[in-house]
Amino acid sequence: MAKTGMERLEELKKDIYKCIHCKACRFAYSGEPDREGIGEYAGKQSTVLYEGMVDACPAGIEYGWEAFWNAGKMWIARSILSGDLEFSDEVRDVILPCITCGQCSAQCDNKIRTVDIIESLRAACIESGVPMIEKHELVDKLVKERNNPYGGAAADRFKWAKDAGLEKFINNKDAKIAYYVGCTASYRQIEVAVATAKLFELLGMNFTLVADEVCCGSPFFRIGAVDTAQGLMRKNLEAFKNMEMVYFSCAGCYRTITIDYPKWMAEDEELPFKTQHAFELVTRLVQQEKIKFKPNKELKGKVVTYHDPCHTGRHFAVDMEQDIIAKSKNLLMDSRKIKKAIEEWYEVPRVILRKLEEDVGIKFNEMYRIKLDSMCCGAGGGVRAGYPEFSLRTASLRCDEANAVGADILTTECPFCWRNLYDANEMYNHGMVVMGVLQMITEYNLLDILEKPKEEDFLTPSIREAMEEEPKK
Ligand code: SF4
Ligand code: SF4
Repeated sequence: MAKTGMERLEELKKDIYKCIHCKACRFAYSGEPDREGIGEYAGKQSTVLYEGMVDACPAGIEYGWEAFWNAGKMWIARSILSGDLEFSDEVRDVILPCITCGQCSAQCDNKIRTVDIIESLRAACIESGVPMIEKHELVDKLVKERNNPYGGAAADRFKWAKDAGLEKFINNKDAKIAYYVGCTASYRQIEVAVATAKLFELLGMNFTLVADEVCCGSPFFRIGAVDTAQGLMRKNLEAFKNMEMVYFSCAGCYRTITIDYPKWMAEDEELPFKTQHAFELVTRLVQQEKIKFKPNKELKGKVVTYHDPCHTGRHFAVDMEQDIIAKSKNLLMDSRKIKKAIEEWYEVPRVILRKLEEDVGIKFNEMYRIKLDSMCCGAGGGVRAGYPEFSLRTASLRCDEANAVGADILTTECPFCWRNLYDANEMYNHGMVVMGVLQMITEYNLLDILEKPKEEDFLTPSIREAMEEEPKK
């Protein structure tokens, strides 16, 4: 039996009652504390964000009131559980404008699973009969009718593949490896889908695009429409059930299928396939010296920075941390394991960026806030659909951080972050090029294959999974 939001909230009760309302989750330091700050920097919205300990929660920065910061939401969850507060439209309007970026859980020394709590709170709110906001109702209707929140026709889901000469991969019956494209890369940021599929083709991967793929359900898990999300989950589990490995180019889809599906599946169920992001494969091949990159005159000297998507960064990092905590017999000793695992995880895209610096001649400059302390792009948690102005203002704050380190190119590895950063870059005149890392590799023809990868290279477990195995030894 699948779980309800209220049941998940009850499961998280211990976490909720651990919140001492210290409000440390409001702030973040730089991800590299010994790194020099960049001083005061007033960005396009004249917000000074870059001096020492800075406000970290986009919802709190936007709305200012206590209830909108994470500590307020933890108190709301507690009051709902204790019966001191009932769900209402007012409660919904406080718990919804939150990007579920996880900055708060990264800052909390009590290791409270704040994103899980906020998402369960939203699910319980809808279950109680409080209606969704209109904009969320619209995407919910579209996904129920069309299996994607953009309203695109099912027949057009892989149009990008047909147009790019990649049709042979659609329902490729021989393959046991799939590329799960996701709705944003299929219907909007097709650059990301084309770049990823072309990269797989160049590497010699025999993969399939599964024609019955539907939305992963991410926006619906985030906004509390758990029934819709679980319906989509069931369709994908059926469509991909014969696959051994599923690759992703979208941080949100990767997080949802890897972390959320098992949480919302029945206790005796398991994901029928392994998962990994395409950049884990590229990083492994770089480390094994099977690939390198070609020099490029156009890119030489360009300052490139990297935005960590919350879904691949913090959400996986916090999940690894929770996994180690759950198995730990000596948390003091294991806190080193947690630190090491998180550091290694955040290195994955940076291996590629440093190799691009070495081989291609780009200059890789990190932003002030990176890794666990990275500022969100503003797109997630149903915020881009429900609260577009807040969403784009947050993306613009992130673009300010990229401007502050002189970036010509702002890269990321998620089509949803790509879209929001791109739109804010245009709207607020940040003057950069926004691009995916894998997109840069394929569009500039940078891939240099030194040793053709074999099938076992593509079926090797993800870097994430290899790291999760380590603490058991
Ligand atoms: S969630 Fe953690 S950091 Fe935030 S107020 Fe509660 S205990 Fe403090
Ligand atoms: S998830 Fe992000 S936006 Fe939501 S309360 Fe936490 S820090 Fe704020």
